[in-house]
Amino acid sequence: MIPATTKGAVLRCGAAGPRRVTRGKRRQGRLVAANVASRKPSGAGEKKPTDLWSSRFLYSDLDEAVTDSAEFCVLPPPWEVELAPVFDKDANEPEFLQAVTETLQSVGPLLRDDPKRVETFRRMVEPERVIIFRVPWVDDDGRKRVNRGFRVQMNQARGPYKGGLRFHPTVNLSILKFLAFEQTFKNALTGLPLGSGKGGADFDPKGKSDGEIMRFCQSFMTELYRHVGPTVDVPAGDIGVGGKEIGYMFGQYKRIVGSFDGGVLTGKGMSYGGSNIRPEATGYGLVYFLSEMVQRKDVAPSLAGLRCAISGSGNVSQFAAEKLLSFGAIPQTFSDSDGTLYKETGFDEADLAVVCHHKNEKRGRLRELEGHAEDWEYFEGMRPWQVGKGYDVALPCATQNEVSLEDALALVQKGVMVVAEGANMPSTPEAVEEFERSGVLFGPAKAANAGGVAVSGLEMAQNAMGIQWTREEVEERLRKIMVDIYDKCDEGSKMVEDGSLRIGADISGFLTVAQAMEEQGHV
Ligand code: NAP
Repeated sequence: MIPATTKGAVLRCGAAGPRRVTRGKRRQGRLVAANVASRKPSGAGEKKPTDLWSSRFLYSDLDEAVTDSAEFCVLPPPWEVELAPVFDKDANEPEFLQAVTETLQSVGPLLRDDPKRVETFRRMVEPERVIIFRVPWVDDDGRKRVNRGFRVQMNQARGPYKGGLRFHPTVNLSILKFLAFEQTFKNALTGLPLGSGKGGADFDPKGKSDGEIMRFCQSFMTELYRHVGPTVDVPAGDIGVGGKEIGYMFGQYKRIVGSFDGGVLTGKGMSYGGSNIRPEATGYGLVYFLSEMVQRKDVAPSLAGLRCAISGSGNVSQFAAEKLLSFGAIPQTFSDSDGTLYKETGFDEADLAVVCHHKNEKRGRLRELEGHAEDWEYFEGMRPWQVGKGYDVALPCATQNEVSLEDALALVQKGVMVVAEGANMPSTPEAVEEFERSGVLFGPAKAANAGGVAVSGLEMAQNAMGIQWTREEVEERLRKIMVDIYDKCDEGSKMVEDGSLRIGADISGFLTVAQAMEEQGHV
């Protein structure tokens, strides 16, 4: 049993040897400062209560969130010496450093006294390739617009680069590198032959017409096509990129290369090579993972009757709610970047259909559903964690850093027993620490939301074989993969003192990728 890295009270090596640094003092020493100031546009508006939930998130409250999280970018020994140059290079990428630091906290004990593993980790944090490109397009009024497109090709040790595309105004290199880094471990946990990557653009699909979205997707793919392919890099959807956008991008790719390479994108429509259950996969997989957590850690005999807070109202949230209902659980909330919709007795199947129709077909805001029925309440500018009388389960399914320490304290106070992350890195390090301190069972994103990429891997396999499995077949494979991922997290957790599913996920993912990298030489 390897002793776990000290967490919470971070130790740092100085000339005088290791010393314990208290929270308040952490900022004084040598800390890789997350350079948020340079990203704040001049004249950013006064902080409003809803800023955390708006697209101004990065430019207002994130200053605060990142400054707090930057405390967790303090490298524990001996990594301050070993990895400081790596961190220095990316000092203006706070989300990326946050993700790397969290993982280093988990795998640190395995790296200790093993220079080969340290060297492997150093290579893991360096993307194999980053592509940044111009995306010119014309809006419906004939105005010429331009956005920035990205693809981070992180790690190809176990298969083609694999990870989604995000279209959201907050997209930047730091966010995409953190997502690509997380994807490395997640994809390894699925056991499928997948490398890792992530991409997207700072394009805001909100309020855009179908024609504008199509022209943007076509322009995006007009550059991206030369960097992707079924054995090279296989993107999928993420925030702001669903079946419609994948369809437009696939059509453009096919038109440029002049052949039908179905395996170049996943999340395709069923009419042209998509997989059954791919749209549902992340949400369904999350609930399968949650079910394992609840039963195997004796939280409850099943999910039946558990009150659940869900954030977001997009792809992951909708299908998580659907699967929760099939298990007899009670989803009480949805949210979007403006506020939270709450029903104390829980949304049933008919309610869910109303929410899905409103978000997917009408492209509406949740506030417009206030009063749809007498007991539907809407809280402007609030997150689900802050409303409601009591929850048993919290499923953050919207975006990164959406659960702060304050939110975690509120959830603990409301009686939450389990948190499973549907979004990527939705809980800040302080929130995770609070959950663990309070005995809340925590399912990390890398494991809990891996169902989406798992079914993407199954879609690639079906495309390669030229077949389409039934819904039942794909869902059963998905369920087994999620149970298997739980087992891997559990096994990994036993390799260190005070292990948890979070630490186990990092350790298991790291060991799998490290072996593949080491067997292929220093490349
Ligand atoms: P989606 O369908 O676009 O839905 C995103 C939801 O999150 C929307 O309700 C959106 O509200 C909300 N949201 C987005 N950015 C926000 C912000 N800055 N502040 C507050 N709310 C915000 O996206 P999705 O596919 O469900 O993805 C959600 C999360 O799951 C992301 O973290 C993604 O990386 C992760 N994930 C997705 C998949 C997948 O297969 N789709 C797989 C693994 C992980 P608005 O409508 O107001 O923007």
